[in-house]
Order: sequence, then structure tokens, then C-alpha cells
Amino acid sequence: MTWPRRYGGAERSALERYVVMEEVLAAGAPVAAHWIADRQSGPTLLRYGTEAQRLEILPRVARGECYFCIGMSEPDVGSDLAAVKTRAERVAGGYRISGTKLWTTNGHLAHYTILLARTDASASERHAGLSQFVVDLSGPGIEIRPIHVPSGEHHFNEITFTEAFVPDTALLGTEGVGWQQVMSELALERSGPERFLSSFTLFAELVRVCGAAPSDRAALAIGRLASHLVILRRMSRSVTGVLQAGQDPALQAVIVKDAGAVFEQEIPEIARSLVGTDHSAADSTYTAVLAYTILQAPSFSLRGGAREILRGIIARGLGLR
Ligand SMILES: Cc1cc2nc3c(=O)[nH]c(=O)nc-3n(C[C@H](O)[C@H](O)[C@H](O)COP(=O)(O)OP(=O)(O)OC[C@H]3O[C@@H](n4cnc5c(N)ncnc54)[C@H](O)[C@@H]3O)c2cc1C
Repeated sequence: MTWPRRYGGAERSALERYVVMEEVLAAGAPVAAHWIADRQSGPTLLRYGTEAQRLEILPRVARGECYFCIGMSEPDVGSDLAAVKTRAERVAGGYRISGTKLWTTNGHLAHYTILLARTDASASERHAGLSQFVVDLSGPGIEIRPIHVPSGEHHFNEITFTEAFVPDTALLGTEGVGWQQVMSELALERSGPERFLSSFTLFAELVRVCGAAPSDRAALAIGRLASHLVILRRMSRSVTGVLQAGQDPALQAVIVKDAGAVFEQEIPEIARSLVGTDHSAADSTYTAVLAYTILQAPSFSLRGGAREILRGIIARGLGLR
């Protein structure tokens, strides 16, 4: 919605995009495949990509024909992202990539990943010598294997790169400054309404089954959750305002994401204690939504940065460490 028209965008404001995102999330619309490209990969290409990269990829994303996944985490490399071991070695005409990326959401559906790799193994500082690449996942030397979550679903993947060749034109931005680029990509990953609306469907279900005359205990709990939701929404919208003003909302986004994850994880706990599956009000729709949300909830405080890491960033941003 917000991208320039010459790349297939609609040149709408960040706030208009926010309104639409909120509605599709609240309705539980099936938008996952497009989400990452729209939220972070496309804007990262707009910020750091060459004109050729933008013209080749962005119009296809805007038409809904091209999806992205995030190539950051690795085995033993999650919170400590600067420990990335995937290597991209310079060879004639490009780079050879070797390594493994893990927890790659929708990697099996995606056409490209934005991959963080080490281009200079001799760099003395661990945040130096990293670079980002726009990698076409259909190329040789790339294998995508599924990882099934406890609910049995397949969102996650492990992607192995075995001397996979990418041309010079796959480099995104500047070689060696991948750390700074990936931090600005993460700010985009943490800034949207999806960071506090994951359990919204369950909240709406809880309100429905509690009915027009809920018990005092239910009314108190629902009122408290509703007031938190209103405040989170205001905070989240103000992050969009910062984005719209062309500023970097990295700290504000982390605060909303951390508070949003607490809220999203509270809802299944509160719902279960008020209307458990053996409660007379628990019909099959409510029970299914409750069961699904309980299975997803542990991931809310991990994805996009684990809770303790986000709180460290907040403390640093407030000058406390
Ligand atoms: C739903 C979901 C989708 C994801 N999608 C993607 C994706 O598409 N692409 C991708 O690259 N990654 C993805 N991830 C991975 C995600 O980025 C990592 O799970 C996250 O960064 C945490 O890393 P980890 O899993 O290795 O846990 P660890 O880093 O091992 O952390 C485990 C625990 O230790 C704590 N901990 C770690 N370090 C510290 C510290 N310094 N101080 C205090 N506590 C600490 C953490 O807070 C956490 O509680 C996804 C994860 C989830 C859950």
C-alpha cells in the first residue's frame, strides 16, 4: 500500500496501511504468505536495494506473485544473531554461500530470502564482516526441509546452503554493513499490529461465550484485557506515526512488541481459567480457538526477538545499561 507507484505500490500512508492490516488480522484473513515481503523484505529493498533489484522484485510482490522469508536464525544462533556462521565467500562474478538457516517461516512457499551471512571471517569485531543477500531459493545448492510444530502444522523450515552460488547482483546494500541493515529490518518486524493481535480471535470468542450478562469475575477480566488492548493499539499506532514521519521507531517498536506479547500470552491463560473446555458455555468453535491459541502462545515471546533480549534493548534505550 505504501510503496511508490513505479514499483507497483499505491503511495498510501503508513497509517492507512495500519488500518487495513488491523482489519485483516482481526478477521483472521489468510495473509501469511505475503506478510513478510510486505512488512519487511520489500521496505528493506526500498531502503538498501539497487534500482535493478527493486524493479525486478517489488512489482511482483505488489501483485501478490512473489513471497519472501527471513534468513536470520541458525542452529545455535537465535538471540545472539551476531554469531551467524553462514559464510558467503567471494568468487568470480558473485559469492558462494554455505550454512544452515533455521525456523524459516514459510520458507517452503517463498521465492526469495533476505539472508544474513558472514562475508569477512577475519573481522575483529563480531558485528562487522556481515552482509545481506537477496537469494533466489530456486537456485542449485539450496535445500528446504520442513519442521513440524506441536500442532502438526508446517510453517517452519530448515534451509541448507551448500556452496550455493549467487551473483554479485544478489548483494543487498553494502558488503560488511549487514548488521546495521538487519537491525533496521528487525525494527520493521517488530512494529506492526500483528505483535499484539495474535490472540484477538480468542478474546472475541471469550466475550461471545461469556454472553451479555457475564459473571463479575469474567466482566472484570474482560474489562481489564479490553483496556490493555486499547492502550496497546494507541502505542502501536504511534509507532506507525513515527514511521510515517520518516524516523526510526526501533525502541518504541520493541516496547510495543514486548508489552504486546505479554497481552497475547495472557489471553489464553485467562480464557482457560474463566471458560475451560469442560465449562457449559464452551461450544466447539470456542474450544477449537482456545486449543489453537494455547499451542501458538509460547512462540509469541520468542519470534522477532526473545523477551529477555527485547527488555535488554529497552533498558539500553532508556539509558539503564
Ligand atoms: C513463530 C516463530 C517464527 C520465527 N520465524 C523466523 C524466521 O522466519 N526466520 C528466522 O530467521 N528466525 C525465525 N524465528 C526464530 C527466532 O528469531 C528465534 O527463535 C529467536 O531469535 C530466539 O532464538 P532461539 O530460538 O535460538 O532461542 P535462544 O536465543 O536460545 O533463547 C532461548 C531462551 O534463552 C533466553 N536468552 C537467550 N539469550 C539471553 C541473554 N543474553 N540474556 C537473557 N536471556 C537470554 C531467551 O530469552 C529465551 O528465553 C522464529 C521463531 C518463532 C518462535
